[in-house]
Amino acid sequence: MSALRCPLAFGARGRGSAMDVEVGDVAQQAFTGDLPGWSEVESLVEAAYRRCKSDADGMVADYIPELAQTNPDWFAVCVVETDGGVHSAGDIDIEFSIQSISKAFVYALVCERYGHEVVADRIGVNNTGLPFNSVIAIELNNGHPMNPMVNAGAIATTALVPGSTPDEQWDAIVSGLSEFAARPLQVDETVYRSESETNQRNRAIARLLESYGRIDFDPLAVVDVYTRQCALLVTARDLAVMGATLADGGVNPITGKRVVSADVCRDTLAILAANGAYERSGEWLFEIGLPGKSGVAGGLVTIAPGKAGIGTFSPLLDAAGNSVRGQRATAYLSRVLGLNIFASQAHTLATRRRDQA
Ligand code: GLN
Repeated sequence: MSALRCPLAFGARGRGSAMDVEVGDVAQQAFTGDLPGWSEVESLVEAAYRRCKSDADGMVADYIPELAQTNPDWFAVCVVETDGGVHSAGDIDIEFSIQSISKAFVYALVCERYGHEVVADRIGVNNTGLPFNSVIAIELNNGHPMNPMVNAGAIATTALVPGSTPDEQWDAIVSGLSEFAARPLQVDETVYRSESETNQRNRAIARLLESYGRIDFDPLAVVDVYTRQCALLVTARDLAVMGATLADGGVNPITGKRVVSADVCRDTLAILAANGAYERSGEWLFEIGLPGKSGVAGGLVTIAPGKAGIGTFSPLLDAAGNSVRGQRATAYLSRVLGLNIFASQAHTLATRRRDQA
């Protein structure tokens, strides 16, 4: 662990308070069902798009001035299956900045490098119950970030990206996220500049973390890398491919290349389930029953483990910063495609009798 530049006195879960479930030596098994057939998925993706297309609830984010210019009508839905099949509807080629969705994939890269325990301890896994850019959450947790899906934890996670300079860390982020997306991603320079000029709050969060000894090198350089990662351009299809890679045990279904390990996917998805929709994560899990992550430009990625990644794009957001149409389309798909990880059906009586015979 000597390579870590951010030694911490004790972890996010507190000294001695980590949940010790004693399964570190037990191999993870995974058993998942299948999606419906190709043409059914195809028509249900189209149905999700049509169903939500005319919804006009929500507001475009304007605290990053450039995002206020976004066309509120844009809407895209895409499902990428773990066998590489792609189903899409709507404005599928429109690029937008990935924003907070980057947090999930940067976390996965850092977890791949440092492992389950170290990352859980240094960043944390529990929900703050507070908005994504909360400063109070840091204070309430003894100066420790709480999870990598809100800004404090994400900035601390970016500080852990391998590399001895910010440029090296940036290269690792761009190449890692590009591998998730199966194509080279580019930065939206206008969004990057716009956020850099107005991100006093994130700079304050980084300074606060520094004051607690949670970031041990130039906090403003870390915020700069974080701001750039948030400005990477993606499409709804890219998000679905990135999600499908997490659904596929870390192998990108388009390139066939392993990006992260299956254990890292499992850890990332657990954190997304608890924290992917900020203070609305409980409601999200209750309604949709899948790990997912939203971004303030309107993107949303959702992962059905073993089955598919769902990417949606619609810039109209709810008060927590989650895309309204994206949530509705994803909730619909979760139901009709049978994706909710908490849903089950009784074993049919006929099968039960046959099994007992
Ligand atoms: N770049 C944005 C920020 O740090 C990301 C926030 C988000 O997507 N919720 O404020």
